[in-house]
This record gives sequence, structure tokens and C-alpha cells, in this order.
Amino acid sequence: MFAIISDIHSNLAALQVVLEDIRSRGIKEIFCLGDIVGYGPDPKECLDLIIENNIASIMGNHDHAVFYEPTNFNSGAEKASYWSRQALEDEPDAEKRNQRWAFLGRLSVRLQMGNIIMVHASPRRPVTEYIFPDDIYTNSTKITSIFERVDHLCFVGHTHVPGVFLEDPDFYSVDELDYEYTISDQERAIINVGSVGQPRDQDTRSSYVVVTEEKIQFVRLEYPIEETVQKVYANPYLDNFEGDRLKVGR
Ligand code: ZN
Repeated sequence: MFAIISDIHSNLAALQVVLEDIRSRGIKEIFCLGDIVGYGPDPKECLDLIIENNIASIMGNHDHAVFYEPTNFNSGAEKASYWSRQALEDEPDAEKRNQRWAFLGRLSVRLQMGNIIMVHASPRRPVTEYIFPDDIYTNSTKITSIFERVDHLCFVGHTHVPGVFLEDPDFYSVDELDYEYTISDQERAIINVGSVGQPRDQDTRSSYVVVTEEKIQFVRLEYPIEETVQKVYANPYLDNFEGDRLKVGR
């Protein structure tokens, strides 16, 4: 049994609630599919929690942007990237500063465990490609081509919309799945675990998954949204929109 989290986006209040829930279930092994930083107000604290809890992590496009350079970002996301980089750079404790940068620089682009793969975005372009639910109608060849890279299960984040893609192609939202997906050995599936710190499926609760041999459980958790929103509003380098969106889940 293990848990997979993703897209924390410097939302400490959300990450704390999720890690506490995982602990309360007695789960020891946690994976993170990236975007630990970006958009939100607490990049240092979120990185520290991931490091302290030994969470095996993958590089997301926002982690990449803070470490290297933002590419194809909208202005709000770009501003947040540069501010996050400065916040990490301004850390007076050299040991902490170096530990966080080293962690970001070491992030892998994909993790493979037997016939299960984990990436931030898609198995075809692991850091950047979005797999949208609408693609099953508008771009089914894209889904077919992406599935060629999947042996059995592939876990992704990136769109912040949790659910399961099947080869048909088809997409099932967590509502349609009743928050549970039963794993069948013959099937290939791409599972989006949703976002801890910036859900975009009109449900404001944090999202993550618990994986056992038989099934994938989608967990949603309330967290003190207003705490994070007020920190965003108080930070002149972050657009207020990055707070407003948390209140509506988009
Ligand atoms: Zn993200």
C-alpha cells in the first residue's frame, strides 16, 4: 500500500492536512508527482516537508521553472516562479538553502516500478504534456499514442483534474468512479491523482490517491483554504487570482 500526491504548489496548509491523513492510515510509502512549488506562498516549507518525509519525487514543470527557467508560462505563473526562486535564494541558512536546491536539482523525470510508471505530465513528454479529459473527444489519436508508452498503470498529475483514462479512449471522473477504481491485470490505465494544493475540478478539497494491490482510492480532504488565500493576498509578487482560484477549485 502506498500513497501518491501531486501538484502541491507551495500550499502548506493543504500539504499538512494530506500528510496527516496519510499518516493516520498507517501508510509509510509516499510518492510525489511534482510541482511542489509554483503559484503558492510557501515554497520553502513545502520542500522541507517533502524532504523530511523522504517522499520520492518527480520533477514537474513548475519545479523545472524555478530551478532552470519558466517556459510557456502565463504571467502569473512566471511571476510566481521568479519569486519562489528568490525566496529559496534568500534563505539565510546556507545548509537549508543548499539542501533545497540540491533536492530540486536531483528530481527524476520518471519513476518505474515493474509495470507501473509515474510521471508528472504524460509518459510521452513527462514534464510538459497535458492529458485533458476532452482529448478523448477532440484528439483521440493523442491518447492512443500516449497509451503506447503504458504497460499497465501510469500515474500522472499536471492538469489538477483527478480521474482515470482508459484506452477506448475514455475518461472517468472521480464522481463517476465513486472515488474508487478497481485494478484489473489485463487493463492499461492512466490515473490522474489530482492536486493537493490547487484542485481544478470545481471541488476545492485537496486530492490524492491510496494504491493497494486491488484498487485505487481517490481521497478528498478539506483544508483551511483561507489561510493560504490570505498569504497569497499578502504577497505582492503573487497575483490575487492564485488565491481566488483556490476558493472555487479552478
Ligand atoms: Zn501543477
